[in-house]
This record gives sequence, structure tokens and C-alpha cells, in this order.
Amino acid sequence: MNYKEALQHPIFNIISKSAKELQLDAFVIGGFVRDFLLKRGDAKDIDVVAIGNGIKLAKQVAQNLPNKPKVQVFKTYGTAMLRFEDIEIEFVGARKESYSENSRNPSVEHGTLEDDQNRRDFTINALALNLNPAHFGDLLDPFNGIKDLENKTIRTPLNPDITYSDDPLRMMRAIRFAAQLNFKIEDASLKSISKNCERIKIITEERIVTELNKILESQQPSIGFLLLEKTGLLKYILPELIALKGIDEVEGQRHKDNFYHTLEVVDNIAQNTDNLWLRWAALLHDIGKAPTKKFSKKVGWTFHGHEFEGSKMVYRLFKRLKMPLNDKMKFVQKMVLMSSRPIVLAQDIVTDSAVRRLVFDASDYVDDLMTLCEADITTKNPKKFTKYHNNFKIVREKIIEVEERDHVRNFQPPISGEEIMSVFNLKPSREIGIIKEAIKEAILEGEIPNEYEAAYKLMLEKGKKLGLNSAVDS
Ligand code: ATP
Repeated sequence: MNYKEALQHPIFNIISKSAKELQLDAFVIGGFVRDFLLKRGDAKDIDVVAIGNGIKLAKQVAQNLPNKPKVQVFKTYGTAMLRFEDIEIEFVGARKESYSENSRNPSVEHGTLEDDQNRRDFTINALALNLNPAHFGDLLDPFNGIKDLENKTIRTPLNPDITYSDDPLRMMRAIRFAAQLNFKIEDASLKSISKNCERIKIITEERIVTELNKILESQQPSIGFLLLEKTGLLKYILPELIALKGIDEVEGQRHKDNFYHTLEVVDNIAQNTDNLWLRWAALLHDIGKAPTKKFSKKVGWTFHGHEFEGSKMVYRLFKRLKMPLNDKMKFVQKMVLMSSRPIVLAQDIVTDSAVRRLVFDASDYVDDLMTLCEADITTKNPKKFTKYHNNFKIVREKIIEVEERDHVRNFQPPISGEEIMSVFNLKPSREIGIIKEAIKEAILEGEIPNEYEAAYKLMLEKGKKLGLNSAVDS
């Protein structure tokens, strides 16, 4: 293979020329090379390692670029970054690292390319292409990363125990790459991750969440979550999911394993949406089942109120993992809270008023909610599977129909509180709320259309019943 093909972008010639001017060697390394070989599309992040001063090289490159971009220097890390067109290029001097027990921040010295490749996490991430004009495009692959790419294997350059213990984030990265690329983690690595799993505690929540997000964004997220569970990492990161594991049996009655069910739901939804937060909702939709699980002789296993409990747990989980406590979190909470609503519809005859209520409550998120509930159909009974999907099709059609007619999405009451006050000559009072609620209920039940005239009439009737005098009467 001609690796020069990877270096066709004019930026590589400019880096090459700049390195020559400084009389140092430079290499493209890591994800860019890996993704080129995997044909994963044009990478927008390029990592360049200089045998010497990486910051100096970045500045030289910037000088040689037509628009002389700004160089961002990260002194503590000895790295520099610049942007050219839509590409982000990071420069670092080759280094040798040594680690201490309690931190993933190593002490660093200058090193050779080999030293630098040794400190990389995986053989497939240690591939380097030479930028020196005399050897432009030569591949440097001391750990046979090419073979691992072909065999779809995640392997560490050095003894995995050292690699993972030095920087436990690599355990998450190994699993994330396995999920993203559909690669196998080599046995010794897998054992070592299991052995070192407790060390994940020294990694910040933000970094863990970055990897979790990437797992969730992959085509088949269950690959990652099963590995997280198998290696013992999941119990430190998302114990709420571990609590869903297992099947209990009392008097011959069993419930499904909600952990594996959840993973199926996540895989299903991954085929229908790229919305990361909807995928989070799928992952968390059943977490309330563990604390609400009960058995009674009469009805067997129940999980009463698990949606409400689950939505409260979402807040605590987001907070613990230092995830945003903003509208994204509220969206996940809403999805979890409403996650059983359409299912009830799908099991029964779908009435207009039930659909209207669903649209009213879910508002703009009704389509996302339907996507979640469709993914939630994991029954292995083909008859039920078809029936539920068909019913959901009817629900989706009815949503459109009801919406066109009744406009209950982002419901605005056709009669305002002010108008009620002025018609009945009222000060702010309980009666206004009662009338407004009666109008809303009548619309949702389909007793009156969502229109001003009909609502006005109903307001007068309700007012009369409440013993109010309207300006219209007098
Ligand atoms: P992606 O862009 O999908 O996150 P990447 O491999 O490019 O993948 P980066 O985080 O940008 O990920 O890392 C760039 C390169 O730096 C990697 O390919 C790897 O060689 C090295 N690297 C990153 N993180 C680590 C780590 N924790 N330990 C060792 N090497 C690492």
C-alpha cells in the first residue's frame, strides 16, 4: 500500500517543509493514520509528533501557511494547536513518560519516536507516517498495528497491566474503540482491564462520559456496554444498570432481565436515531425498575411507578457524572417519565382522545417518544411483535391526524385567563383555573374542538354552573 495517499492534503507538504527548515523529523501519528487505513472518511484531527520542539514546529507551520493562523500553545503539556481550513492540527514533541500510583498525569521527558509510540494506548493508535521529505509517507509500525487493524484487534504496545494501570482512561478507550470499530479486545488486555477496573475511580467523570457518549453513538452500543459489564467497570460508572441485571423467580413466575432488555432497546434505537440524548433515554428508560420491583401472589412481578422513580434517578445520575443539568437532562427525564405511555396505547384499541392526551403531554417530543417506545418492543413472540408495531403505526398516523385537526402540541388555551376574568368580572381566583381546566379537558376528550367559539360557549356554561354572573347575561 502506498501510504503517501494519506498525505495528499497540501498541509502535509507544508509541515514537511517546516520541519526541514527547523532540521527536525516529524510524523503524523495516531487516529488520523488509523482512520485513513480503515477508510473511515476524512479525519479532521491530525496529530503531529516532532522529534524536538513541537511548539516551535507549530509556529513554523503557521508562518508558512498563507493565512498565518494563530497558534494556541498549551505550555503545561508542551503541545500546540492550529487550525487550517476545517482541520485541527495538534503538535507535540516526542516524549517518554513515567507514571505514579495516584495520577494519570505522568512526568514527561523528551524522547525518540519509539519512546513516543510506546506511550500510545493501542498498537492501532501508534502507527506513524514519516513527513521527512526523503522518506515522505513511510510507515513506522513497530508493534504490528497494521496486522491488528486487519484482524480487528485492540492490543496495547506494552504489557497491558502497565498500560492500563498507568492511565486507567485507556480501559474506557479500549472498550469505546471496540464498540466504534467493532473490534475484539485481545484476551490479555481484557483480563488486565478486569484486574485494574477499580482504578477507573481516579478518572474524572467528564472523561468517562466522553467515552460513554462515544459508545452510545456507535452503531451497536451493546458491544461497549457488555464489555463494560464483563470487565467490572460498569459497576463503578453506572451501578443503576447493574441493578437491572438478573431474573428473579417466585412461585414459578419470572420477570425479564432488564439489563439485557435495556441493551437491546439501545441497539434498536441506534438504528433509528442519531440523537445522543434519545439514546441516553433508551439506556436509562428502565432504571427505576430496580428500586420499584415487587412480587405479589395476585399479580406477580410489578414495577409500579418505575417511570417516575427513574426520572428522579436520571437527575441524580447526571449530577454524579457531572453531565449537563440542562434541557438535555430534562429531555431524558421526560422520555423516561413517559416511556410507558404509548405502550399502553399499543396494547389496546387506539382512541383519538388517548392520542390527543399523548401529544398534549409529550408536546414537541412526541416523535422522539414514539421512537423510544418502538425500540422498546423486544418481545420474542412474533405475533405480539407485529401487533405492537402495527399499533404504533396507527398511533403515528393518528398523531398526525389529531394534530392537524386539534393542534394540541404546545397547547395554547383558546380562551385566556384574562378573558375569563373580564367576562365574569373576576379578580384572580380559583374559578378561573377550574374553567380553564374544564376547557382543556373537553378539548382533549374530543367533546369540543380546539376552537374559540366552542370554548367560549363552554366557558359560559361552566361559569353558570359555578354561580358566576357574566357580562353577557346582564
Ligand atoms: P478519536 O478522534 O475517535 O477520539 P483518536 O485516537 O484520534 O480517536 P485522540 O483522543 O484524539 O483519539 O488521541 C489521539 C492519539 O493520541 C491516539 O490515537 C493515541 O495515539 C494517543 N492517545 C490518546 N489518548 C491516549 C491515552 N489515554 N493513552 C495513550 N495514548 C493516547
